[in-house]
Amino acid sequence: MDGQTPIDQLEELTALAANWAAEQERRVLCEGVPLSERELADAKIIGVRYPERVRLLRVEAVPVPAHPMLAAAAASIHFLTSAPRGLALEYGIFVRSDHWRDRALIAHELVHTAQFQRLGGILPFLQTYIFARRNSPLSPNLHIPMRNRRLSECAFGIGSSGDRSARLFRLTGTLSTPAARFS
Ligand SMILES: [Zn+2]
Repeated sequence: MDGQTPIDQLEELTALAANWAAEQERRVLCEGVPLSERELADAKIIGVRYPERVRLLRVEAVPVPAHPMLAAAAASIHFLTSAPRGLALEYGIFVRSDHWRDRALIAHELVHTAQFQRLGGILPFLQTYIFARRNSPLSPNLHIPMRNRRLSECAFGIGSSGDRSARLFRLTGTLSTPAARFS
């Protein structure tokens, strides 16, 4: 009765992020180009299903969310890191222009595409890896399967989802609406 709980806010943030990510994926699918033969072969080795559906979009800067609450959350939990070289949103992959067709970067992002597929799409991916509800040592780390991590270039940043979860709860605590105090 006194505004939102942190769990409500976490769900609101996750929904905002999922909408944003789906919108960005649509943009890449409309404007992007298919994988090259070599990238398709890499995608198959990585375990991406339907690699022919993947599109790459060359951009000057990887986009960030405009919504203030989502932007604050993204900065707080390193989703997204600043100035990443790549960002995978299921089948849509943004590639910063100075790393266009960088084989290692695209392979890294394709591992995230496979993670989206294994979990069943954008919302479960965000719920599992980014906006995890529990600060559990068993929370999966989205970079564990990567041999050549080069984490500084990944939009999803570093750290386990446990770290993210703790930071998110601190953040959602500070986002609580003060409206009730004035009524
Ligand atoms: Zn990554």
